[in-house]
Amino acid sequence: MPYSLHDLLDDTLAGHRLTEEEAVRLLKTRGRDVWDIAAAADEIREHRVGDIVTYVRNQNIHVTNICKNLCGFCGFGRRADDPGAFCDDIATVREKARAAVGRNVTEICILSGVHPDYTLDSYIDLISCVRDAAPGVDIHTASPDEIVWAAGQSGISTALAIEQLRDAGLGTLQGTAAEILVDSVRQVICPRKCDTATWIRVIREAHNLGIRSTATIMYGSYESAEDRVRHFGILREIQDDTGGFTELVPLSYLHENTALYRAGLAPAGATGREDILLIAVARLFLDNFDHIQVSWGKVGTKVAGMALLSGADDLGGTMFCDDVSVDAGGEGADYLDPGEMQRIAEDLGRVLRQRTTTYGMV
Ligand code: SF4
Repeated sequence: MPYSLHDLLDDTLAGHRLTEEEAVRLLKTRGRDVWDIAAAADEIREHRVGDIVTYVRNQNIHVTNICKNLCGFCGFGRRADDPGAFCDDIATVREKARAAVGRNVTEICILSGVHPDYTLDSYIDLISCVRDAAPGVDIHTASPDEIVWAAGQSGISTALAIEQLRDAGLGTLQGTAAEILVDSVRQVICPRKCDTATWIRVIREAHNLGIRSTATIMYGSYESAEDRVRHFGILREIQDDTGGFTELVPLSYLHENTALYRAGLAPAGATGREDILLIAVARLFLDNFDHIQVSWGKVGTKVAGMALLSGADDLGGTMFCDDVSVDAGGEGADYLDPGEMQRIAEDLGRVLRQRTTTYGMV
């Protein structure tokens, strides 16, 4: 007799660790069973972290949109001579950091294109500048791909590059550039980024140096359900070994101004069913992650509320500016007021709390 969905969910609630094959089955579910998967994930969320919905008061600083990678799913990256290309000088970055301090942020994300001329010293200068302008604020920056690039440009190992960035003021690493950790997918959506094995190596190096990071997944473009679950499998293996991930940040693909969509290689983003199931299956499969974020800038605040009923427990950041989502066609993706976050949490019978980057309560 085939293993029924409800037996599988009951066993998972009782502590069974989902296999990748089982997770694929959950991701492919259609019809009202989707709600049962979401309910099981919500129950696990309740046991693991209670009824608190968290957010971080943060600000993005985009230093440049000039990028060596020009990924097919991205509407933000430009060539240096493209219209709208920009690259801020250090004085402008300092002003942006001071503005962030004026907004009482606890985290600044330096989130930029991978400028082809940047070296490790460029990143050190940027981080030092933000550290001096915003003392005590967590500097959350540098994806594994940026570290590989900076280390290569400066002729040193990635581990040494991470140490030097930490000494300059890096607080936590961005687990971005992960996209989908399957090389056949990366070859289509981000062929110039580091490959899967390199991403894993650099994240492990950071965790082993005591630097924590987020984990991300960019879904809804070219990949299959199997690819999404293989990605989750890699994250779960790393977390088993290092415990260095603070949370999973699922990033739903925004298609509008992207080459991948224009070329007919990707659909118009994930559906609502896929968004809800991605969150729910992440909560069920990633049994060693405390926190699953829902990215309101990608899915909108209404789906974000439903995701908080499907396994998510974190609303991410205030951001104040998110050119990456806006340039890809995300409306209202710049800023979410904590008052609105509170309305979303209380509507679900939950409590909103401000957190630090590493989930200490403010
Ligand atoms: S996703 Fe990042 S690396 Fe890729 S083109 Fe956009 S800014 Fe560049």
